[in-house]
Amino acid sequence: LFNFAAGPATLPESVLLKAQSELYNWRGSGMSVMEMSHRGKEFLSIIQKAESDLRTLLNIPSDYSVLFLQGGATTQFAAIPLNICKPDDVVDFVVTGSWCDKAFKEANKYCKPKSIWSGKSEKYTKIPSFDLLEQTPGARYLHICANETIHGVEFKDYPTPINENEVLVADMSSNFCSKPVDVSRFGVIYAGAQKNVGPSGVTIVIIKSDLIGNAQPITPVMLDYKIHADNNSLYNTPPCYGIYMCGLVFEDLIAQGGLSEVEKKNIKKAGILYNAIDESKGFYRCPVEKNVRSLMNVPFTLAKSELEAEFIKEAAKEKMVQLKGHRSVGGMRASIYNAMPLAGVEKLVAFMKDFQAKHD
Ligand code: PLP
Repeated sequence: LFNFAAGPATLPESVLLKAQSELYNWRGSGMSVMEMSHRGKEFLSIIQKAESDLRTLLNIPSDYSVLFLQGGATTQFAAIPLNICKPDDVVDFVVTGSWCDKAFKEANKYCKPKSIWSGKSEKYTKIPSFDLLEQTPGARYLHICANETIHGVEFKDYPTPINENEVLVADMSSNFCSKPVDVSRFGVIYAGAQKNVGPSGVTIVIIKSDLIGNAQPITPVMLDYKIHADNNSLYNTPPCYGIYMCGLVFEDLIAQGGLSEVEKKNIKKAGILYNAIDESKGFYRCPVEKNVRSLMNVPFTLAKSELEAEFIKEAAKEKMVQLKGHRSVGGMRASIYNAMPLAGVEKLVAFMKDFQAKHD
């Protein structure tokens, strides 16, 4: 079965099999990872290896902290302004889709966010040219969502903040570890694990260390980056099993040759799918501007929209599931994260051609 869900999403089969083989007895410890103390030497070795492999994969500079947290990316919508802003600080948002819009609305409780661009009137199908952005003098950070999971728009490059002490903040939930990223261009990168790197329940924050330690006094202890950084993500009980699974995924990505190799596979898979859509003579349509189409989430519609339910039902019969588009946009969405094999995309494209031949 090929699972095109947007998240939680398909994980590499080899990783799941490895976890299964270690389920009852992790490496001779006699315990499942679910049963270990988070302060014991076994789990410490798991979290330390996960961090070190992630540092290798993303080439994370030593002056950045890596935190394994809970609460989903949604919690970071509040944690970021609480940690790096004073209540009167202005921050800029480039609102390219629903996720960035949610982050913007949440930030409004803790600082003064300004939407300097919004793609809403064009149904979130574009990313602006950076020279058109009117960034705010004195802004504390510039927030982007690197890949909008619902709308399928992805930044191919990143804007540069204009102010001396301003940093770039990116929600990378749905394209985390799908390609190399120059971490040094960002103040904060955050991502829920459940698309590319593990099960839900783990949120990864990569933050320049000098941004840590200035949280607003009202910041709950669980949202204070300093608490988590000082305690190596072990201030309270972390999502141990999820972190273990992320660690297995990181090992797998390294074994594949690292993120440059992973990116090549992702470009190939997405290329095949977008070509099939574009070559269908309008039978299928992807609304997103070509140069910003996501490698991870491919939304598409049928010109004969009355056939969409049948498309989804017939695909499921062929063991291709979770292709329904997000309820806010309709149509279909194929999420093709790292763990979606090329064979899955090829099978989908063959099905799309057959479906068109039957209904055109
Ligand atoms: N940001 C993006 C880009 C997402 O795709 C999602 C979830 O799908 C979120 C944030 C919210 O993540 P969570 O459900 O982990 O809070």
